[in-house]
Amino acid sequence: MVAHIAVDIGGTHLRAGLFHQDSIHPLRLEQISTQYQDATPLDRLVSLITSIWPENDEVAAIAVAAPGPLNPYEGIIYTTPNIPGWVDLHLSEHLENEFNVPVLLGNDANLAALAEWKYGAGCGHHHLIYLTVSTGIGGGVIVDDRLLLGAHGMAAELGHTTIIPNGPMCGCGQPGHLEALASGTAIANWVEMEIASGTHSVLAGQTNLSAKVIAETAAMGDDLARTAFLRAGKFLGIGIVSFLHIFNPSIVIIGGGVSKSGDLLMSPVRKAVDEGIMSSQFQKGLTITHPEFGDQAGLIGALALTRS
Ligand SMILES: [Zn+2]
Repeated sequence: MVAHIAVDIGGTHLRAGLFHQDSIHPLRLEQISTQYQDATPLDRLVSLITSIWPENDEVAAIAVAAPGPLNPYEGIIYTTPNIPGWVDLHLSEHLENEFNVPVLLGNDANLAALAEWKYGAGCGHHHLIYLTVSTGIGGGVIVDDRLLLGAHGMAAELGHTTIIPNGPMCGCGQPGHLEALASGTAIANWVEMEIASGTHSVLAGQTNLSAKVIAETAAMGDDLARTAFLRAGKFLGIGIVSFLHIFNPSIVIIGGGVSKSGDLLMSPVRKAVDEGIMSSQFQKGLTITHPEFGDQAGLIGALALTRS
């Protein structure tokens, strides 16, 4: 039988799965921690893939999901968070030489979009927006049944859409991006800033605030925590309005840890979309929903890439 190998390069784990031709359920699935002192991550990745390699089946392709920035056309990782040594790494070429099968590479948010479109919440849709809202905000876009990659494969950095010129600084070094206003990090930073300027909250005095803790506090009725989500949801909705205007999707899928706060985030998102849309025609038949795949999205997306 023909088999496919999907790999996900995560911040904490390198994960690899072996799949038969038509299944999204792995025959073998192994993971190891990304960081390890005795061997380079590349050597460990090669051993991980070797450990799930089938004895009898033929492997058609390997695909790798990795955080950007990367070049999916040439299989090059420019830099990646959590693995400082991987700079301008020709990953596909290296793995092709090692295993003698085609190797494909994709941005993990793009591949999560591909996973939802091919096997998940976006099945049957031809135009799809995927957003993952966690410590940062990642995005992926399917247009006319194709994953949007762009001239250099750098699309679609939806989290780095400017919402407020001269707004709070984003992790990318530019101000006022959606990620700097609506990510988990942005929510926690804003609450800390408000507390520092004297706003009352039961969160005052707590260190290492997270969006999860703030969501739990909001559910208990804390005004500042509730306002933090109203604010983040509003900015996320403003971003989504622009994505609807630009791409005219029939489904918007919002995943990531912050989206688990449910209506706390989604109510202001929907309100901002209703208020900001230029024509209700953009909302005709529009679904705004949760993803089907959680932290398996990168792996399933890589699998989808091997079959594309
Ligand atoms: Zn940015």
